[in-house]
Amino acid sequence: MIVDLDLMEANIKKLFDKLLPTGRSIRPHLKTTKSVILAHKLEAAGAKGCCVAKVSEAEVIATAGFDDILITCEIIGKPKVKRLVELFKKHKSIKIVVDSEAGATAIDDALSHSGIEEPISTLVDLDVGLRRTGVAAGEPAVALAKHISTLRHMRLIGIQGYEGHLQHIHDRDDRKRQCLNSMKILTDTADLLRESGFNMEVVTTGGSGTAEFCATVPGVTELQPGSFIFMDTDYRNAIGTFYSNSLTLLSTVVSKQGDRQVTIDTGLKSLTTDSGLAECKDPRYTHRNLGDEHGSLSWEDDAPGLEIGDRIEMIPSHIDPTINLHDFYYAYRRGVIEEIWPVDSRGKVQ
Ligand code: PLP
Ligand code: MN
Repeated sequence: MIVDLDLMEANIKKLFDKLLPTGRSIRPHLKTTKSVILAHKLEAAGAKGCCVAKVSEAEVIATAGFDDILITCEIIGKPKVKRLVELFKKHKSIKIVVDSEAGATAIDDALSHSGIEEPISTLVDLDVGLRRTGVAAGEPAVALAKHISTLRHMRLIGIQGYEGHLQHIHDRDDRKRQCLNSMKILTDTADLLRESGFNMEVVTTGGSGTAEFCATVPGVTELQPGSFIFMDTDYRNAIGTFYSNSLTLLSTVVSKQGDRQVTIDTGLKSLTTDSGLAECKDPRYTHRNLGDEHGSLSWEDDAPGLEIGDRIEMIPSHIDPTINLHDFYYAYRRGVIEEIWPVDSRGKVQ
């Protein structure tokens, strides 16, 4: 997994140049990079805090010295709640989301048995159309906020509403229109909660495909983009080339299969396929998967033939799960490797 530092740094600069002047906080989602070093680079660029998906990721990032971490997935089940409590003992700025009374009560119970006095900062997770997690807008959200406010060990600080189903809509106008509809659900419910007397200092949302639209909506305070730093073919096809594909897989030709086809050493264990096949950076070569360990590249007359030992760059189709398949990033500038970064929270999916 190789990273073009010039392109990656340009992606970071483009995002912060675009979004920081809107006055919103940028809390990048580290589910993409799973990297402490990259978390530091994003912080240096102007990020305020970070997001992670799971408790086990938060453990890694917190141990590396980050405190202001929002865990964006619900934490359910005794073992995970126990891990959260242990983490919270040492890192009091950790923030969580809840979308059910049962989920909130279980965490509050565990905290009350732990002897910790401080309440944990908690956000209502709202469904804004994704139908993945999140309480329904309006009264159900008010009922959940009321419940949270009865719990001694939780402090309600705001609301999260992530519109993940809209990130990859190809038509920009359509993506914007649907995003603004989702933002209306989010900010209307935030207003309703505020009118009902609840603290709503944080209204957090947005991904790489929508953050620029979310940032125009009054009431949105915080943006959570992740993939923009490296991009992938799915995002490139949807949002264009404002951000560049800065991460590729350096594959090696290991076998020749006739005149116009070779086998490369990146298969399903190197590149995920849920968003289609990875593409060769050189569009003259057509990629097919050949199982766990291999892929094939074929070409027409006009492309230079590939030979055994040649190396060729593949662009992942879906960046987050692809990174989770690898141990290290090799970061280079103009052909020379400058840094090697571990994928610190690789495999941390609990
Ligand atoms: N916020 C949440 C809750 C997410 O689940 C994700 C990604 O799945 C993001 C933000 C970041 O989105 P992206 O990687 O599309 O920028
Ligand atoms: Mn993703």
